[in-house]
Amino acid sequence: MSNRYSAWALVRGAFARHANWPAAWRDASPKPAYDVIIVGGGGHGLAAAYYLAKNHGITNVAVVERGWIGGGNTGRNTTIIRSNYLYPESARLYDFSLRQYERLSEELNYNVMVSQRGLVLLAHSRHDLDAMSRWANAMRMNGVDAELIGRDELASRVPGLDLSPRARIPVLGGFVQRRAGTARHDAVAWGYARAASALGVDILQNCEVRGFVTSDGRVTGVDTNRGRIAAGRIGIAAAGHSSVLAALAGFRLPVTSYALQALVSEPVKPVLDTVVLSPGTGAYLSQSDKGELVIGAMLDLFPSYAQRGSFAITQSILAGVLAMFPAYARLKMLRQWAGIVDVVHDSSPIIGPTPVPGLYINCGWGTGGFKGIPVGGWTLAHVLATGENHPLAEPFQLDRFTNGRLIDEAAASGIAH
Ligand SMILES: Cc1cc2nc3c(=O)[nH]c(=O)nc-3n(C[C@H](O)[C@H](O)[C@H](O)COP(=O)(O)OP(=O)(O)OC[C@H]3O[C@@H](n4cnc5c(N)ncnc54)[C@H](O)[C@@H]3O)c2cc1C
Repeated sequence: MSNRYSAWALVRGAFARHANWPAAWRDASPKPAYDVIIVGGGGHGLAAAYYLAKNHGITNVAVVERGWIGGGNTGRNTTIIRSNYLYPESARLYDFSLRQYERLSEELNYNVMVSQRGLVLLAHSRHDLDAMSRWANAMRMNGVDAELIGRDELASRVPGLDLSPRARIPVLGGFVQRRAGTARHDAVAWGYARAASALGVDILQNCEVRGFVTSDGRVTGVDTNRGRIAAGRIGIAAAGHSSVLAALAGFRLPVTSYALQALVSEPVKPVLDTVVLSPGTGAYLSQSDKGELVIGAMLDLFPSYAQRGSFAITQSILAGVLAMFPAYARLKMLRQWAGIVDVVHDSSPIIGPTPVPGLYINCGWGTGGFKGIPVGGWTLAHVLATGENHPLAEPFQLDRFTNGRLIDEAAASGIAH
C-alpha cells in the first residue's frame, strides 16, 4: 500500500514542475548573539551544529558560511567513505564515522545515498603485498573488516583491470574493505543543514568571518561582512582555510594547504561496481550513479590556495588509470576541479580547544575528511557543549605536536587521501 502511495506521489511530483516546494532550511538573518557560532558551512560545521542541537539540546546556534553551504570541499570531493586506518585511535575515530554513515539517511530523514560497494586496494609489488597484509591485519585487530584478496578475486571484482602478463603496472593482489563505499556529498551537507535548521539552528550564508572579538583574552564573537555577532563559544570547521582563521584569532596551526584535484568522465553504462585505489600510482576511481567515472588524484605537491590543480598531476593520474584500465582510453573527461585541503604532518585531524579560550577547532582532515564528517561534527559538538574532549577526539589534540604523540597515518598506512 505504502509503495503504491509513494509511486503515485512520484508521478504527481514529476508533473508538478517542481513548484511550491518548501525550502529545506530557513533563510536566517544574523541575531546579535548566539550561545555557539560555528565558522564554516561544510559537512563538519553543519554536522557539529546538528549534534549540538540533537545530542546536547543547544539550539541557539549559528553556522556562518562565507559562500554557500557545501560549496567548499564537501561539495568537491570524490565521496569515498572508509575506515581502513592502521592505528587503534584512527580505527576508532573513522569506524565510528562509518557506522554513523550507515544509519545517516534514517537519522536525518534524508537520502544521503550511502553505497557500501567495497573499496579495493591494489598491491603492485612484493613490498605493497607485505605492507597491505600488515595493514589489513591491523584493521582486523582493531575490529574493522578487511580481507586480503588474490588475483582471481580481483579479476571478478574489478572487471577491466589489466591482469595480463603484458600489463604495464603489475597487480599482485590487494585487500578489500567491504563496508567502505561512497555517499552523495551534496546530500550530506543538505541533510545535516535541513535537520539542524529544523531544530532551530540559523544557517547564515554569504557571511564571511573577518575577525574574532576577544575580551580578557577570551573569544566573545566574530566580525563578519554582515556585522558583529556575539557568541559564548566558537568552533572553526573551515577546511582549507583553517590557518587563515587561526591567524585572525592570533595563533598558528601546523597545517599546510594544498590543492587536491579530481576529474569525472562522460557517463557510460555500468563498468565498475566497487571503489579501486592504487596507492602506487596515486590514482583511485569509482563510478557514480549517473555513470561517470569519478577519478581522484594525489596532492599537488606545492602549497597553494588556487582551486585549479596542476596539469602535471592530471596527466600522471590519467596515465596511472590507463595503465591499469587500458579499455578506458577512449573515455572523454567532462570536468576537472580542485579543492584546498589542510594537511597536517601526521595526516591525522585536530579536534579540540585552541590556545584562545572559548575557541575550538576541527581541521587537518587533509584529503580524507568527507568520511569523517559524522565523527568530526559529533566530537566538535561535544567539546563545544561540555568544554571536555570527547574520548574519540582525545588523541587528536593540538598538543601532540609539542609532546610528540603523533598518529602518523601517512607513514603507517600510507594513506594518501
Ligand atoms: C578533490 C577532492 C577529493 C576528495 N575526496 C575525498 C574522499 O573521497 N573521501 C574523503 O573522505 N574526503 C575527501 N576529500 C576531503 C574532504 O572533501 C574534506 O576533508 C572535507 O570535505 C572537509 O569538510 P569541511 O566541512 O571541514 O570543509 P569544507 O566543506 O571545505 O567547508 C568549510 C567551509 O568553510 C568556509 N569558510 C572558509 N573561510 C571562511 C570564513 N572566513 N568565514 C566563513 N566561512 C568560511 C568555506 O567557504 C567552506 O564552505 C577530498 C577533497 C578534495 C578537494
